Amino acid sequence: MSDKYDTVPTSLRASEDKEPDHAGKPHFCAIPPEPRRVFKPGVSARRENLIILFGNKWVSGTTLRYYFFDRDTDGEKVLFTDGEERFVSWVGAEEQLAVVRQAFKIWSDVGIGVRFQEVHDREDAEIRIGFMKGDGAWSFLGRGILDHGPNERTMNFGWDLTRPGEVDTAVHEIGHTLGFPHEHQNPNAGIVWDEEAVYAALAKPPNEWNRDKTFWNIIRKLDPTEVKGSAWDPDSIMHYPFEPGLIKEPVRFFEEGLRPHGGLSARDISWVLALYPPEGDEMVLLKPAQSIPLELTPGEQRNFRVAPQETRKYDFRTFGASDSVMVLFENVDGDYRYVTADDDSGEDTNAAFQVKLMKGREYVLRVRLYHSERQGQTAVMMW
Ligand SMILES: [Zn+2]
Repeated sequence: MSDKYDTVPTSLRASEDKEPDHAGKPHFCAIPPEPRRVFKPGVSARRENLIILFGNKWVSGTTLRYYFFDRDTDGEKVLFTDGEERFVSWVGAEEQLAVVRQAFKIWSDVGIGVRFQEVHDREDAEIRIGFMKGDGAWSFLGRGILDHGPNERTMNFGWDLTRPGEVDTAVHEIGHTLGFPHEHQNPNAGIVWDEEAVYAALAKPPNEWNRDKTFWNIIRKLDPTEVKGSAWDPDSIMHYPFEPGLIKEPVRFFEEGLRPHGGLSARDISWVLALYPPEGDEMVLLKPAQSIPLELTPGEQRNFRVAPQETRKYDFRTFGASDSVMVLFENVDGDYRYVTADDDSGEDTNAAFQVKLMKGREYVLRVRLYHSERQGQTAVMMW
């Protein structure tokens, strides 16, 4: 992971690989800080908010391919507390990989419109997973994982996942990859922290976080626009457990602590299905020079079948004052392969691209709307 984040371990205990027992204290996920996107002047607050909420989500119907680092050279040099620099591998043991595969299946079994597929070539993968001990558990958020090159991790697991309940750690990190932030930072939760107690608790093993990392992942409240819906879900897979003494309000958690029930909550499931609905059979055929109204509300998506009658370059474009992402896939025996995409969010232009399509092949165009000036007055066309 790059130096601009402070989650890179600058030192590790010399005994790190022995997995010391920390009396059952939970390891916490620490996601890397990312700056809030800056918009040009004239973009309204409502428009910004909708772009931030939906802009890191995938279009539903995307296949996300995942890869486990597997070469002896995959890893990095780390300075240990005994003053020695040692190579720490990113390669995980087979039983660790099995837990992560199980976690992908838990999301898939919900019936979401995003598919996961394991690949053995890092160049083919959007999600690249390392098991670097001492580097914690983390993932970049949503489509942000695409900003990282084929030799970089987008997700890490820094401790043993085969212990009871640890599959939830993997389910949680995949939740970040799907674009979900931490639920305990939901501004609607109304959590009042004993901040110094939180900093002190996280500074201890097994986490040993500095104040910046604790602030970014726990104390900081998310912008209301980064969370979907208004209610707080303390049972969410995206919520950490907290020991007693850290949460001042709601008061019952001060004495009891807060422990999510484990696994995906009912609201996690309804939330992920709203963002990534399963694909229906009916898909409108988009024909050349025929404009089709999109009739979408913010966050909604429509899919179109494209069946070119001749091999040539085609233009695709959205119309109307709107922000949207438009992605074209080729349907290869039911496997949707990414072809090209455009995202016009925050700009005065429309989503548009030109691409060569082959006669006799099948394509699918997916359009997700973030925001439109006039409800329902957007359209898509190819020619
Ligand atoms: Zn997390």
